[in-house]
Amino acid sequence: MSLRQRPVSAGPAAPKNAAVLAKEHVSPETSPKSANSFWILLGALGLSALLVFFSKPFFGGSINYATPYALCSSEAKVYTVDAQNSQTQCIVVAEGHIASTGSLEEIQLHWKSQVPHSELQVRYIPPGSIIVPGLSDAHGHILEYGASRELALEGTKDIKETVARVREYILAHPEIQKNMSAYVLGGGWDHTVWPTSRWPSADDLDSDPVLQGRPIILQSKDCHALWVSSKVVVSSAPFPEVVDGGLIIRDEAGHPNGMFLDNAQDLIFQPPLTDDDLSRRFSIAVQDVVAMGLTSVHDAGLNPISLEFFAKQAEQNKLPIRIYGMTYFDENVEYWGNTTKPIIDAGNGRLNARSVKIFTDGALRTSGAALYEPYADDHTTNGAMRISADVLHHWLPLFLRDGWQVNIHAIGDRANGIILDVFEACLEGVNISASRPRLEHAQIITQADRVRLGKLGVIASVQPTHAISDMWYAEDRLGPERIKNLYAFRSIIDSGARIALGSDFPVESPNPLFGFYAAITRLSADGKSPHGSEGWFPEQRLTRQEALRGMTIDPAYASFTESTLGSLEAGKRADFVILSQDIMTVAANRVLSTKVVATVIDGTPVYGRF
Ligand SMILES: [Zn+2]
Repeated sequence: MSLRQRPVSAGPAAPKNAAVLAKEHVSPETSPKSANSFWILLGALGLSALLVFFSKPFFGGSINYATPYALCSSEAKVYTVDAQNSQTQCIVVAEGHIASTGSLEEIQLHWKSQVPHSELQVRYIPPGSIIVPGLSDAHGHILEYGASRELALEGTKDIKETVARVREYILAHPEIQKNMSAYVLGGGWDHTVWPTSRWPSADDLDSDPVLQGRPIILQSKDCHALWVSSKVVVSSAPFPEVVDGGLIIRDEAGHPNGMFLDNAQDLIFQPPLTDDDLSRRFSIAVQDVVAMGLTSVHDAGLNPISLEFFAKQAEQNKLPIRIYGMTYFDENVEYWGNTTKPIIDAGNGRLNARSVKIFTDGALRTSGAALYEPYADDHTTNGAMRISADVLHHWLPLFLRDGWQVNIHAIGDRANGIILDVFEACLEGVNISASRPRLEHAQIITQADRVRLGKLGVIASVQPTHAISDMWYAEDRLGPERIKNLYAFRSIIDSGARIALGSDFPVESPNPLFGFYAAITRLSADGKSPHGSEGWFPEQRLTRQEALRGMTIDPAYASFTESTLGSLEAGKRADFVILSQDIMTVAANRVLSTKVVATVIDGTPVYGRF
């Protein structure tokens, strides 16, 4: 998605704020605890005397998660995601880290050798269930997701139903209903599934008696369009005739009619967010994502306000999940890469923010993706670049020099090609594993550019659920040849490039099982695709192992945390998920019926229990 840095912030520009935050939050990068250090620590604390033997059924009794414990699968269904993708029976958790892994016998022997005269409490997961490392979403938007859940417009069948949903929301919220100047903010509408080819307009909102006269701002599902009421048009005016990298839809008389695309969205005045707004949105989002098995989210666009909010939460040790932040780039503010320090492992490893996110083009749905050739169903356009190659050539080397990861949003084949040109020039002589540049989305990418991607070592941050959402209309947009370059995940891996999987929530659900299912089947939830039951371009399916790695160790690498996160190995943080059934072997059409039994961060459940 291309959630944009909007004028909502109405606060200071990124550099100043971020610099202040950095000063307060930077801590030296902690190296992973070695397995040995646990045992030394345990001995020193004299914990051995406190340990008692437990071997209870899964849900029997309560567990003190602060005390070392072993969690075992009698069927050896612990997927470690180590370099060999090995499975094992048990993990031992101590001090929030994985102390050891192995068979029950191995871990007990090991335990006794390290902490004599003590018994290790051992728990079993239910038969049929599995343990996997904590799941990551490599590209999501946390606060925007929370906002989208407040007035969610997903799944509406047409304009009328969307308006009706807004009406119901107003009627259900007396504080909004009685205050005509209260902003009504919603999102998730998707005109591509409506039976009309026209854009919705301010008139559609204003003609409803309940909505009439209110400031209403509704974000599209792909976040590349804002649909606003006439009250908002008036309060945001005047508008320029032409918007670089954006479009104002106008009526026959030439007046803006309430639809603002891509960069034109920035022209819309939005009310500043209060602390209450942020907290409410954050808690809605966190509650949902931990219930889905996510332990870590890469937030693909922090503005100064959200960065400050997360940093404050981290400082107070109140971040219930791990967040990897990408800070929005704004070419109109002074360069901040050398005055702002990246945030590394703030809040006990819960917050890292050491990357910059740069937009280059728009989305496929809204014809914003920059293509080499015009859209197959609209020969008048081939999309637009929102930033020039010159600007990128200027800024990228600076950010790379100052130690920032550069994460570039690129959807169309032209956008991806231009970025790879820039990367080729800027990465010469740069240590790639120190810089780990990323292409966010990398949706339509030519064969030649995939080869360059692999050669350069650029990470492709891709979203499998987009593939199964877009497969129904994408060929109309791209034609029969170019479509082969869209969501070509297998080809990207085969080129030697690394991938990291995400959902781009709220564009799609944050549920990582949806992403896993989409990646391995390329089928809709009900088992369909335009190419039949084997999946849409089935040759581009990922294996289950690749998909699991793409949600664990690969995002860890993509966020510089692979030495502490992403796999279940001694010395790493004890982030893991217990799933009700074995997604690595169950029939593909049953993957989506998997339940999250528990989501565990630093050894303690943040959802469920065991
Ligand atoms: Zn996004």
